Amino acid sequence: MENKEKSTFKNLGLSEKILRAVENAGYEKPSPIQQMAIPSILKGRDIFGCAQTGTGKTAAFALPIMQMLDERGNYPQPMQFRALILTPTRELAEQIASNISVFGKGMDFSICKAYGGVSLNPQIKILANGVDILVATPGRLLDLFAQKKLNFGGVEYLVLDEADRMLDMGFIKDIKKICTALPKERQSMLFSATLSTEIESLAKGIVRNPERISVSPDKPTVEKISQKIAYIELENKFALLEKMMKARISKQDDSLALIFCRTKHGANKLAKRLCRIGLNADAIHGNKSQSARQNALNRFKRRETRILVATDIAARGIDVKDMSLVVNFDLPEEAETYVHRIGRTARAEADGEAISFCTTDDAHLLRAIIKFIKKEIATLVDNPYHSDSAEKASNLKTILSNKAQSVAKKITQIADAPARRKNGGKTDFSGRREKSTKTNSRKKFSEKKIGGVLKQKMKRASSKDFQKTHGAKKSIWSALKNKAGKFKKR
Ligand code: AMP
Repeated sequence: MENKEKSTFKNLGLSEKILRAVENAGYEKPSPIQQMAIPSILKGRDIFGCAQTGTGKTAAFALPIMQMLDERGNYPQPMQFRALILTPTRELAEQIASNISVFGKGMDFSICKAYGGVSLNPQIKILANGVDILVATPGRLLDLFAQKKLNFGGVEYLVLDEADRMLDMGFIKDIKKICTALPKERQSMLFSATLSTEIESLAKGIVRNPERISVSPDKPTVEKISQKIAYIELENKFALLEKMMKARISKQDDSLALIFCRTKHGANKLAKRLCRIGLNADAIHGNKSQSARQNALNRFKRRETRILVATDIAARGIDVKDMSLVVNFDLPEEAETYVHRIGRTARAEADGEAISFCTTDDAHLLRAIIKFIKKEIATLVDNPYHSDSAEKASNLKTILSNKAQSVAKKITQIADAPARRKNGGKTDFSGRREKSTKTNSRKKFSEKKIGGVLKQKMKRASSKDFQKTHGAKKSIWSALKNKAGKFKKR
């Protein structure tokens, strides 16, 4: 009932001016995060929001802030700004500023973007007169502050976007420094794609008695994305990518594809190889200047290039319509990054596909991702380069069986030790005589230790819940139990 009432922008308490802004942006109905956040922000509450990428977070905070700025009608003082939006990357700062410009069409808002990699002077010039909204990355903001080109005295609203990413990128000190310089009387909003104890403790110092808003925190993967794994050998990765990209062309699919590589060098190399076979691609990563990154992004948005190869630095800031495919050419090292990467597709109401290449060596990364998103990922069917070995390495049964084998081996070694000693073999592997009492107590200790670990694991394995969810592991653990039983009898 409540949701139905809130399912139009009009019912969220937005003013006529802002409703026109929403219309300008082409939004018909509010997304869940917008339904939850907008009324609370308009009431003056601080917000602690946990939301997936692509859920419409920007409008959720920008629309009510713009409305309140407009209603209060204050003018910014020189070198001051009334709303500060902090983002981890330049791309995201660009994205947010461009959304705000669309919403603010026909309204009299001044906006400034402050991020590194570009000249300071234009930013200093805009800030000199004061602005309504400043969208900034922490490093550049502190740079300008240190040079006395801005002051924080006029901040009425603070937004910390993608807080988890900020922490990952090591901005924690910068953020704390900025927050201590801000006026105590302000309304603050903190958004994060994931929750952790670090985020909770960061939030404590920033938001006061916040309204907690959460959009599917237990399911961090955007549901509409069709996710597939291509098990493959390293040397076949490029051939599969080529096949996939050419199949899209032959189907006259002119939507855009984003490909993720682990390293800057890898991204450059891949973009070059794609260009060499006639597939127009650009690369963006942290080694490229801001203008080169922006140009590549603009060419992609204008569809002059249909393939963009990126490292993770670009993952969060890219919001391009019609991006129907994300390829993880290399799996990410952090499971959480997987969610941010694939969240570049299926933006707003669109559908999307994410295909991840997994080699034998990457099996552990895939398992970490599956554990994080709490669901298995289907195998890509149309893969002429399918690698059984990579699939086997990623299989939970194989991983557990390897673990079980190594524990069983340890048990056998310990069980065989008394026989070795009885044989008069008080010699250790290096041929030296053992000191028997010390060795015995050490042996007893490790038997106890392994016994303890085994006991714990077997207890867990025999619980009903565990067997329900991990049926495949049962046989492995019962084999282990037998082994342990034999060991006890000796
Ligand atoms: P965000 O999570 O703010 O980066 O938004 C993701 C994408 O969804 C952007 O392209 C927005 O323009 C779009 N979007 C946000 N809210 C809505 C809405 N209510 N209806 C349709 N599209 C939206």
